[in-house]
Amino acid sequence: MKNLASPKVTREIIEKYGFRFSKSLGQNFLIDSNILDKIIDGAGIHKDYGVLEIGPGIGTMTQKLAQHAHNVLAIEIDRALLPILRETLGEYTNVQVLHGDVLKLPLKEHLRDYFGDRPIKVVANLPYYVTTSIVMKLLEEDLPLESITILIQKEVAERMQASPGGKDYGALSVAVQFYAQPRIIGNVPPSVFIPAPKVESTIISLDILKEPRVLVKDKKLFFAVVKAAFGKRRKTLLNALSSSQLEIEKGKIKEVLKTANIDATRRGETLSLEEFAHIANSIAGE
Ligand code: SAM
Repeated sequence: MKNLASPKVTREIIEKYGFRFSKSLGQNFLIDSNILDKIIDGAGIHKDYGVLEIGPGIGTMTQKLAQHAHNVLAIEIDRALLPILRETLGEYTNVQVLHGDVLKLPLKEHLRDYFGDRPIKVVANLPYYVTTSIVMKLLEEDLPLESITILIQKEVAERMQASPGGKDYGALSVAVQFYAQPRIIGNVPPSVFIPAPKVESTIISLDILKEPRVLVKDKKLFFAVVKAAFGKRRKTLLNALSSSQLEIEKGKIKEVLKTANIDATRRGETLSLEEFAHIANSIAGE
């Protein structure tokens, strides 16, 4: 099979099968070999690894992954792409395509069945409309992943990597950095996709930490505190936390912040993960 990463070959395949792009499924296919190399190099893929790819499209990145990795499991939601993938990936015996919605599939079982004990990395050019839900599912389900290397909307990548105090820092930064170390690999212009998206994109790698970055007694409570603090960005921490769904009265919040050694007049967006953990652990009762 020819290398699919070119506008000409991609158009030929699409025309041959009468494929129609679905905007609502976030279908923007890569047509540039250099970008694919950058993603696969950035992810550090070699023959020891199993790779989970989300949304193979017509199989452009899947081909390259099959050449570099031990084996590849590719999950695609769009049934119309299945006959195309049968042709484009037909010669690779180390690839399995699974039809389904990655947000609904029991990933842990699929990874165990397909990869066994092999180390696994995720590599994907993600559909932008569900980037956050997919990344959070991958991080929260306690999957045996070493890293997640993805091509996503530039603003979202910047939010994932942001530090306290900046305008991009928010609940997504905390959630990602709780589980992983983000590393931006490079920016990608709209011209390397068919059809071209309206936004700039970025390749980012999330290297999964062996243990969450901070020790929390109650993970749910930790994320509820984060949500409350960022829910009302313009309020002081004291006001944001006491008027939130945490349903803790102001006096108690004052006490908690004092115990955690955090100034009650600060804004949520200035707090580090460690400070959020102090607050949550002090609410839980240390
Ligand atoms: N990997 C291909 C490439 O780089 O050319 C296609 C990337 S395209 C941005 C995203 C792909 O994800 C599409 O093939 C789309 O059908 C698929 N997709 C969208 N939502 C999905 C979901 N919930 N589960 C699995 N695949 C999904």
